Amino acid sequence: MITSGSLVNQSFRHIDSELTCDGVSIESIVERVGTPVYVYSGRAIRQAYREIDTAFGSYPHAIHYALKANSTLAIVRLLQSIGSRADANSAGEILVALRSGFAPSNIIFTGVGKTKDELELAVSKDLGAINAESVGELDRIAAIAVAHDTEARVALRVNPDIDAGSHPNISTGLRSNKFGVPIQDARTIYRERRRRRGLTFVGVHIHIGSQITSIEPLRSAAQALVSLALELKADGIQLEHLDLGGGLGIAYEGRPIISPVDYANAVLPELKKIGLRVILEPGRAIVGRAGALIARIVDIKRFPDGRQFAVLDAGMTELLRPAMYGSYHQIVPVAPRHSTESSWDIVGPICESSDVFAKDRLMPALEVGDLVAILDTGAYGSVMASNYNRHFFAPEVLVDYNKWTTIRRRQTLDDVLALET
Ligand code: PLP
Repeated sequence: MITSGSLVNQSFRHIDSELTCDGVSIESIVERVGTPVYVYSGRAIRQAYREIDTAFGSYPHAIHYALKANSTLAIVRLLQSIGSRADANSAGEILVALRSGFAPSNIIFTGVGKTKDELELAVSKDLGAINAESVGELDRIAAIAVAHDTEARVALRVNPDIDAGSHPNISTGLRSNKFGVPIQDARTIYRERRRRRGLTFVGVHIHIGSQITSIEPLRSAAQALVSLALELKADGIQLEHLDLGGGLGIAYEGRPIISPVDYANAVLPELKKIGLRVILEPGRAIVGRAGALIARIVDIKRFPDGRQFAVLDAGMTELLRPAMYGSYHQIVPVAPRHSTESSWDIVGPICESSDVFAKDRLMPALEVGDLVAILDTGAYGSVMASNYNRHFFAPEVLVDYNKWTTIRRRQTLDDVLALET
């Protein structure tokens, strides 16, 4: 059994038995916007960004925030305003990055299966780099660039066959995964296409997975990338950068894991062998801990065998990670009762047995009407929401400098039906 814990995290903490986000009462937010609602700490986002930036010190580096983790406009704008660059995974994310004020040269476009329209957009905007996933994609980019009478800045995504040690659904660097080209083929691909009209090779890209909590796979990925870059250099291919991707994990279970400093200490000695600028694409490590999903208990069920369920008004439609990856999130009552703890299953209202947030979780007494906070949901939370069961997207609130603002209002029936005839 896992206990719910009392200390929450840096931004979300109980003050006088009431959960707050950077000093702002969660109940006061809920009174105005209802539940479920995502609440984010601007301070935590800034701090996480700075920690990564500081860890790489004076070594030339650029942090391209991975919008896929959370692309709500105000969050992306906040990161743009503090100097972050952007990593986009689709035309939609490129357009949100542009709307948020990023210069095209500060946007990198990654992703398997880019469509012709997406590549047209990326080439015509002259993005900082397009991370190409395959030889076929390189050729399609070249053809589009030639048609536009331009040169696209490209990096090849290589697959190093390294086990990231994270959940299989978010490991991307194994030979068996669909991502990138086998690293041993990369040298030939660069050699053969280096003078291809329409292509300027500016870097090499690697991303071995997400929620990585041990240093070795990250170090091995950096080693692999640097030795490839040294081979390319020997072939006379001058790159501008090495892109290490994202993947740095966060402490969902509260146990210490690798920090940005550990990460930098592991990869910098490798990078210094070539001295090229490094690009990082963190998503989760920047916004993950900064968000909480606040939900209300709408039903309590007790079964004769002793099991008890707290049913929330948020489910896999608001937060998919537990149903999709069996992922762990701390869950805390917003106003915990002083009572002995007992074992609870915390579940959502969706008609799927996988709609479970926690099983056998030790919690104080819970009652219908109570608010709970599902923590560390700033990344891969709201972005993965769906309208399944006609659930409307939850609103999102940003707490910053002691004030809070609704940065996305609750979706309405009219919003949803506006797309339908
Ligand atoms: N870059 C690429 C290519 C990705 O696929 C991902 C996520 O899967 C990221 C960056 C961001 O990863 P994370 O949120 O784990 O830092």
